[in-house]
Amino acid sequence: MKVVAIDGPAGTGKSTVSGRLAERVGAQYLDTGAMYRAATLAVLRAGIAPDDDAAVAAVVAPLDIRVGVGDDGASVVRLDGEDVSAEIRTDEVTGSVSAVSANPSVREKLVAVQRGHAVDAFLVVEGRDIGTVVFPNAALKVFLTATPEARAERRHRQNLAAGRPSDLAEVLDSVNRRDHLDSTRAVSPLRAADDAVLVDTSDLTLEQVLDRLTELAGERIGVRDV
Ligand code: C5P
Repeated sequence: MKVVAIDGPAGTGKSTVSGRLAERVGAQYLDTGAMYRAATLAVLRAGIAPDDDAAVAAVVAPLDIRVGVGDDGASVVRLDGEDVSAEIRTDEVTGSVSAVSANPSVREKLVAVQRGHAVDAFLVVEGRDIGTVVFPNAALKVFLTATPEARAERRHRQNLAAGRPSDLAEVLDSVNRRDHLDSTRAVSPLRAADDAVLVDTSDLTLEQVLDRLTELAGERIGVRDV
């Protein structure tokens, strides 16, 4: 098992960086946020309140959630066999995902799936608790940060590029709200592992972040650009 853990709040460029880093070093990319989003979609479809812990646990327990990578390098997510890759990115899912992901039985189930991926594999895993909880022995842990304004601006541009309606002030609000919920929850709050390398991406281009991470992967695990 060889794992690069990449954690950090929304809008730091984490997904793009993790996917591209995996390509560069010849690893598989695992997007754990997509799993929590798929669970949230199922909860919303079932018409259950995202903070009703017992009902959410019951809906999520039997779900088959699989995350892989498509030809374009982006995550492909299947919920009981159905491709929900686009639907998990809606505002509705984004607005409820922090509540669902604070549910201990949801976390227990999805962490087990995530660990299963690492058997005999070289993985770049992206999330909130990868270096602290899921893979505490990861060979390299990176915590990406950026100012809330820089993060909101990135999300806003991503939304527009994907043809989704977007208002910058609302995106900033949602980024701040999600950070707060993710950092203050009782189970596996978002925080940097003590041995994580902090990288502030506010003033760096994607290529600069990638170069830094490739360099770190080379130093720590001896892998380089392939
Ligand atoms: O990374 P992304 O924005 O898709 O993550 C969506 C949400 O999933 C986060 O805001 C967080 O609530 C939850 N999450 C988590 N633990 C992870 C990954 C994501 O709680 N490892």
